[in-house]
Amino acid sequence: MPKSLDSATKQQLAARVDYYREMGIYDFYRRPADEGTELALEAMKKTATESTSPASKPAKLPPVIQDKTAALKAIRADIGDCTRCRLHKGRTNLVFGVGNVNADLMFVGEGPGADEDAQGEPFVGRAGQLLNNMISAMGLKREDVYIANVVKCRPPGNRTPEKDECDTCAPFLMRQINVIKPKVIVALGAVAAKNLLAMNDSMANLRGRWYDFKDSKLLVTYHPAYLLRDPRQKKEAWKDLQMAMKELGLSSTKKPAE
Ligand code: URA
Repeated sequence: MPKSLDSATKQQLAARVDYYREMGIYDFYRRPADEGTELALEAMKKTATESTSPASKPAKLPPVIQDKTAALKAIRADIGDCTRCRLHKGRTNLVFGVGNVNADLMFVGEGPGADEDAQGEPFVGRAGQLLNNMISAMGLKREDVYIANVVKCRPPGNRTPEKDECDTCAPFLMRQINVIKPKVIVALGAVAAKNLLAMNDSMANLRGRWYDFKDSKLLVTYHPAYLLRDPRQKKEAWKDLQMAMKELGLSSTKKPAE
C-alpha cells in the first residue's frame, strides 16, 4: 500500500519540484522506493525540522539556479554522451547550441550538417554563413542571438531527422528555450516549425503569422539551406525577419547580403 507523506516531507518535495522546474526540468519518473529513499526522506525531514522555527517555516533549499549559463550546463550534462536515439552512431560531436544566454532572439534549425558535426557548433557551414548575413541584416551580431537545432546529432547524409529522433531530442531544446526565454523564436524551415508547433502544414501556411510559444512569440521562415537552393525566396524570408525586427524594436535598412 502506498505510504502517505507527512506534511513537512510534502512541503520539502514541493519545494524541490519547484527548484527543478526553475532549472527547466519538468519530467519526473517514478522508481520503486528503496532503502536509500527512506534514508533521504529521513534526512530531508531532519533538515526541515532543524531549519524551521517557527514550525511552519519551510526548510532551507539550495539556491535556485538563476544563472542561465549554469542552467544550460545542467541540461548539457543531462544529455551526456547521448545514445538515446540512433543518430549518435554517426556523430563526431553533439551540437548543443550556441550564443547569448540572455538573447531576445533565438533561431531553431533542423539538425547539424557535416560542418556542424565536425565543429560541434550549429550553423557554421554555407547555410550558417547565410544565417549570419540574415542576422547582420537585422542589425545584430551572431553573438547577440542563441542558435540551436531540433536534433543535436547529424542525421546520416543530412537526411531529414525522423519523428522518433525529433521526439527524443526535442525535450532538451524545450528546456533550453525555458532557460533562455527569448522574446522571439524564429523556426528555420518546416522541420523546426512542425516540431515546435506540433502542426503539420505547408511552409506557405505556416509563414507570415505569429504563434504564442511558451513565454515567447514564434514565427516561421525558410531554412537558409533552402534559400541557398532557391534564392528567389530570400525576399520572402526578409519579410519574415522584418516582422521579428518590428517585434524586437530593431531597425535596420540593410538588406541581407547574398
Ligand atoms: N542546418 C541546420 O538545420 N542546422 C545546422 O546547424 C546546420 C544546418
